[in-house]
Amino acid sequence: MRAIRIHETGGPEKLRVEDVPVPLPIAGEVRVRVEAAGLNFIDIYQRSGLYPVALPFTLGAEVGGVVSAVGAGVTEFAIGDRVATAKAVGGYAAEAVAPAAHVVKIPDGVATRTAAALMLQGLTAHYLATDTFPLKAGDTALIHAAAGGVGLLLVQLAKRAGARVIASVGTDEKVALARGAGADEVVVYTRENFTAAARAFTGGRGVDVVYDAVGKDTFAGSAESLRPRGMLISFGNASGAVPPVAPLLLMQKGSLYLTRPTLAHYTQTTAELRARVADLFAAVLTGKLSVRIGATYPLSAAADAHRALESRGTTGKVLLVP
Ligand code: NDP
Repeated sequence: MRAIRIHETGGPEKLRVEDVPVPLPIAGEVRVRVEAAGLNFIDIYQRSGLYPVALPFTLGAEVGGVVSAVGAGVTEFAIGDRVATAKAVGGYAAEAVAPAAHVVKIPDGVATRTAAALMLQGLTAHYLATDTFPLKAGDTALIHAAAGGVGLLLVQLAKRAGARVIASVGTDEKVALARGAGADEVVVYTRENFTAAARAFTGGRGVDVVYDAVGKDTFAGSAESLRPRGMLISFGNASGAVPPVAPLLLMQKGSLYLTRPTLAHYTQTTAELRARVADLFAAVLTGKLSVRIGATYPLSAAADAHRALESRGTTGKVLLVP
């Protein structure tokens, strides 16, 4: 079968289209015939070497498709089930395996591509809005890269919780998308000062929480945008990793809270994973959550998809289709 692998880390040109054996699910795993593989920034970090992986490596953690085989001991999935996961091993491929404990069935009414698009970025937006900082009516949130995959979903979930949202985006074209997701205010942070905008948005006080996955370029401004005892959630490195931070900075900027969360710690049990996914699917089915698939590429064009994502040229979700 066809798969996209790297043999060494580096730029998008390191992605190779290769013929590899179809994987066999071991005990506790299911194999999925991939209908869509989600592109995520973690794929870029793994390809570039920021997040080390054992080489050669087939990229891709997020897939939607149909169960094509089950390993020993798997009783809750059968061949033919429509499923999705954010824990695939080698998802940029025609077939991929995943631990059954991290696989979910896709309900009727939710398209396989929508489910594939929702797993990693949707679960991330979900834990950020419901648990890392449990947003409630009246809270104010600054959300960076709001027209991106996580961003569009996070804005919608923040609004669902009743928060007021100021969103940042890189271009004028992305403003309408962030507004369409429900953002109350949108700042184009490539030319406007988002800290001043966040202060103006809150009458000078500062926002309650900043969701910052841009990283290096925005971290300092994010800390400046918070109210005393506000929370800075640094959950990604799209512009580069944030350098070490002195705890004293948190005192100087207002006894701030800083956290650097990751999805695995918010989906530690199958029950937690399934509860989050059920909430997301219900929101899709009731029209409360819209999943934007901004671009679809053939699997063999994965390198082009990587170039588009890392050059800020995408909006919403990017899918690869085998
Ligand atoms: P996005 O679709 O949001 O793409 C990244 C966006 O970041 C770009 O579109 C761009 O938007 C913005 N950006 C700002 N500066 C840069 C830069 N120098 N290079 C590239 N992009 C830049 O990607 P994802 O939704 O997949 O991921 C968003 C972030 O969330 C990533 O940092 C990712 O690592 C993180 N993440 C974290 C998880 C966790 O659990 N901790 C899980 C999933 C994702 P604009 O042009 O508007 O600035």
